[in-house]
Amino acid sequence: MTKINWDESAELDKLAELSIKTGVALQPGQDLIITAPIEAAPLVRKLAQHAYKAGAGIVTPFYTDPEVVLARYKHADKTSFEKATDWLFDGMANAFDTNTARLAVVGDDPMLLAEQNPEDVGQANKAISKASSSVRERITRFDVNWNIIAWPGTQWAKRVFPDLSDEDAQIALADAIFEASRVTMLDPISAWDEHNNRLRRRTNWLNTQNFAALHFYGDGTDLMVGLAQDHEWMGGASVARNGVTCNPNIPTEEVFTTPHATNVNGHVKSTKPLSHQGTLIEDISVTFKDGVITDASASKGEEVFLKLLDTDEGARRLGEVALVPHGSPISQSGLLFYNTLFDENAACHIALGQCYSKCFKNGSELSQEEVVARGGNSSMIHVDWMIGSGAINIDGLDATGNTTPVFRNGEWDSEL
Ligand code: ZN
Ligand code: ZN
Repeated sequence: MTKINWDESAELDKLAELSIKTGVALQPGQDLIITAPIEAAPLVRKLAQHAYKAGAGIVTPFYTDPEVVLARYKHADKTSFEKATDWLFDGMANAFDTNTARLAVVGDDPMLLAEQNPEDVGQANKAISKASSSVRERITRFDVNWNIIAWPGTQWAKRVFPDLSDEDAQIALADAIFEASRVTMLDPISAWDEHNNRLRRRTNWLNTQNFAALHFYGDGTDLMVGLAQDHEWMGGASVARNGVTCNPNIPTEEVFTTPHATNVNGHVKSTKPLSHQGTLIEDISVTFKDGVITDASASKGEEVFLKLLDTDEGARRLGEVALVPHGSPISQSGLLFYNTLFDENAACHIALGQCYSKCFKNGSELSQEEVVARGGNSSMIHVDWMIGSGAINIDGLDATGNTTPVFRNGEWDSEL
């Protein structure tokens, strides 16, 4: 048992308030679904308080328990791993169709399944991917306002701070989460308004430039990323299809858009380890030809990475390119969080797999066929990995090949 008294944590309360007001931006009368690890109950209770103060209809938490997950891997019959809770995903999809907002709290041990039979893990993930397609579709289409925040789970904390005691590790991770989420500031909500304005200036500039491609070079990387036709840069606060302006990720430092699925060429190396389903994949090196990865290696976890690339046709192509300055607070913390919500905000990154259809002009009105026709990728996976560092330069290229500096030595070339 931990001795931390979360009820008295001012920062935890500020995080809950920020999540409801700025993150999910819950509207009066709107219902809210919260998914969270059971250990995060102190945060979920604070979220419920702030949600009801903001006029929530009904707040419904769904808790997951890592011990119950492990019990399945230890004792369940093989046929169990072919199953998923279709009824739960269908119910959630139903709720989103009637304008229920969504809040996800992350905080589980990133290595929870590291010791389990990879075949069972793969089978279970496949079943979940299939069963949750209706939910995933609504979230990637951005039907309703949603938000993800983090809880400093004890096992997760021990991964980030292996040399500290359980309690000290949890306190250290809590501090890192609070710092990155800007709730250590006096007025987190206006700090986020300011942060959103800065991200908006960057997306506006990139959208005005309307680059045809980005050229990443330096530090062993030489990669030309063609951008999708009618792509739109997004970042920070954005408007869901139900008209609500929310901040899906807290924290977030990135501006991102959709690359062209058939127009990426060159080679790139990862600059930080990728934590994927309990495996640490290090020193990824890939070559792209006409959008497809033709050659891939990694110094660690190569087997898992190659398997990931074989998930489906779209898994070898890009679905996202994102710009994050090397000086971002998460990058400067020097920590590896083993969690995409944090690690993707430490460096420029690319994602293999599914694109965001909202990253197109009038994206919410495009059909799946129209997204594909513009160069948007589709896949069952979306996996981000870091390619940025203090040594990376980026040029923007227009349709005739003229270049404009975007990043120099890991930072924005001009202050936006
Ligand atoms: Zn991203
Ligand atoms: Zn991503």
